[in-house]
Amino acid sequence: MNSIISILQKKVKAGYNIGMNSPDYTPFWEETLRQIKQNLTENGRANDFVLWFNINYVGSQEGKLIVSVASNYIRNEMKNRGYLAMIQETFLEISGLEMDLEVTIRDRNAEKSRSTVSFSEPAQNIPLKQTIQQNIQTIPQQREFESKSSITNTLSQNNHSEPIFKDESIPVKKTHPELSEQYSFENFISSDENAYVYNAALAVSKNPGTAYNPLLIYGGVGLGKTHLMKAIGYSIFQSTNYKNVIYISAENFTNEFTQSIRDRSEKKFKDKYRNADVLLIDDIHFFEDKDKTQEELFHTFNALYDKQKQMVFTCDRPVSELKQITERLKSRFTRGVSADIHMPKYEVRSAIIQHKLEQQKKKLSAEIIDLIAKNIQSNVRDLEACLNSIILYSDITGGNLSLSQARDIISKMFAQDTTQITAEIIQRAVADYFNVSFSDIKGKKRHKNIAFARHIAVYLIHELTELSSTEIGHEFSGRDHTTIMHSCEVITKQLQIDESLNDTLSIIKRDIREYKRNS
Ligand code: ADP
Ligand code: MG
Repeated sequence: MNSIISILQKKVKAGYNIGMNSPDYTPFWEETLRQIKQNLTENGRANDFVLWFNINYVGSQEGKLIVSVASNYIRNEMKNRGYLAMIQETFLEISGLEMDLEVTIRDRNAEKSRSTVSFSEPAQNIPLKQTIQQNIQTIPQQREFESKSSITNTLSQNNHSEPIFKDESIPVKKTHPELSEQYSFENFISSDENAYVYNAALAVSKNPGTAYNPLLIYGGVGLGKTHLMKAIGYSIFQSTNYKNVIYISAENFTNEFTQSIRDRSEKKFKDKYRNADVLLIDDIHFFEDKDKTQEELFHTFNALYDKQKQMVFTCDRPVSELKQITERLKSRFTRGVSADIHMPKYEVRSAIIQHKLEQQKKKLSAEIIDLIAKNIQSNVRDLEACLNSIILYSDITGGNLSLSQARDIISKMFAQDTTQITAEIIQRAVADYFNVSFSDIKGKKRHKNIAFARHIAVYLIHELTELSSTEIGHEFSGRDHTTIMHSCEVITKQLQIDESLNDTLSIIKRDIREYKRNS
């Protein structure tokens, strides 16, 4: 070990002597990442390394290592998961130097000219936050990842299960009954919020059966789970010689299985699914209570897993929250990587709208796009539905739809929805989320947790209902409207400094919709 260190130290000195102002710590850096990779792999966490250590050495400056990652989101997650501290500690062990880490966000354009330490994960090089224009420009770049050279440069070690990739020079697209270009990676706008799930999906499409198996994508309705799942299937189907790429909803899987029992054709059913090259099953929450189908799926899973065939599942909630699903099946669903999907922020919502407009060769004014992106915060499916209505009206008016007409359409579409959300539903959902009582939320206690939950409840009531601040005050033991406005300000400020709060709000909004449905 000491001899490695002294060799590395010599290398660093050499870098220093070449005439740089600050030492070039690349040798230490490479060794640091190598050791972390080794440690995580030994602890069965190789996937964590692939997902979270796409971090490049940029340079050094007065006791500081400057490194770069692809997005703010990744920087925050690395910090929260303790990976930045892990890097510092390992670097200290190797170099004897206690260095601060300055984590910058990578500039995609400058990337090519910079010396980087790459750990063979093509998916992670995809830019995460893009305007629509940038996104269209990146399509050739994404295709580049599908080239033979990048694929052979992947994590896959397994010749047996490795698919044969087709020659890129043949541009013919194969047709598949369930998968099409409509739901492809090219048509999915990635975002900071969804960087993890997007990168995991891309990685799977490049390394079917070996990168993460199975991949489980979970999250609320209309956020793009099916889209990403189909994108994986489509990409594999187009770029490999795999013929048997199966996409099926859990409901249809169940129906087909039940029918096969009735027809006494179970063998045919088993053969079909146990010989899949890739199996994509959508909405696995449907399997709750379906004991026989669960058992069949359990055996299908084992057969495919043993043969290293890729499986992808989607679910509307974390698997741990599924009821009436056997533990052994749950443990299989989560054996690979689980990634949740979120509603993208305003900028990405407008990028999605612009992308959909381009696809349909339609135009809307910047103000109307802005209006839709600002108002539709529930999910991307609603965003699309709203956009399609507006396009329809815009066509009817010969492209002269005014801003106030657009506003009318939006409020009519969502009017029914908003009037049903009451202050009480929001208070109950927030109380549940923060694990405090409903009466505490409404009451006067000033305990830190309760006060924060109360601020959130006030903020959401202000956002989701038509109540005035005085009326909201009545819902909180008669607080006056300035106190209510103060709560809104607290959360607005907090949102500016804490990105994860947005996710929290999205989850609570989802709960609110659930409450509303059940009330
Ligand atoms: P889910 O399966 O999570 O309910 P879907 O995959 O059906 O959601 O997505 C709903 C609609 O929104 C689809 O038409 C999909 O193409 C679109 N969509 C969702 N997320 C995105 C995104 N990030 N970029 C482009 N389109 C998206
Ligand atoms: Mg779906």
